[in-house]
Amino acid sequence: MNQLIVTTKEPIKGRMHSFESFGTVDGPGIRFIVFFQGCLMRCLYCHNRDTWDLKAGREITVDELMKEIVSYKNFIMPNDGGVTASGGEAILQAEFVAAWFRACHEEGIHTCLDTNGYARQIDQTIENLMDVTDLVMLDLKQINDEIHQKLAGVSNKRVLEFAQYLQKINKRTWIRYVVVPGWTDDDASAHLLGQFIKDMKNIERVDLLPYHSLGAYKWKNIGDKYSLEGVEPPPRETLDRIQAILESYGVAATFSK
Ligand code: SF4
Repeated sequence: MNQLIVTTKEPIKGRMHSFESFGTVDGPGIRFIVFFQGCLMRCLYCHNRDTWDLKAGREITVDELMKEIVSYKNFIMPNDGGVTASGGEAILQAEFVAAWFRACHEEGIHTCLDTNGYARQIDQTIENLMDVTDLVMLDLKQINDEIHQKLAGVSNKRVLEFAQYLQKINKRTWIRYVVVPGWTDDDASAHLLGQFIKDMKNIERVDLLPYHSLGAYKWKNIGDKYSLEGVEPPPRETLDRIQAILESYGVAATFSK
């Protein structure tokens, strides 16, 4: 007699650091933000130093996450609000994020990927993720690769390829550029940024984010040295100057005044 074998498929799991239920700075409107665990960059100014470890944090399923989110649905839905996958680096868990975003779309919830663009490769998993991503917020940390390697610990080659891929698929994108004194605030760096993004029609917004050291205590808690100790946020004139350089390429950048 044939034996009936029933197999149950394990649900895909993500590894998250934490979530924030009423985020207002990571995408349009009010957002439910999941900070995923793990990052392959090593930014000197990282304000989420505690998210780097790929094995830390806790595992979660899409169903568990959706149960949490649905209770906030009425708050996050208006004004283009929704969910944001942040980190750490959410793209390292692209398969899980795609499954989660798909579930959000089934509930009519807007999805945003906040990423450093450091995808291992542009493969089917990334394409599946992009199919269910409404908006990408992409950090361009430094176009000069020599400086990028010192600032973020890795080459920017994959990041720039990812930016070009977003252009190719015409994905709605916001660019974020952190203005770090001594690292990204010089004219040459701003010109490189302007040249790189000037023809990208998919970019609908460029934000200049002044460096701050609010996350420095997390480095100390881990027992790690915060090497930008003593670096002050850039003055308003620096942001004005970078904004003007970008404008000369037809790129309208904004920053909070
Ligand atoms: S990409 Fe983000 S999380 Fe990763 S090291 Fe840089 S600032 Fe930190």
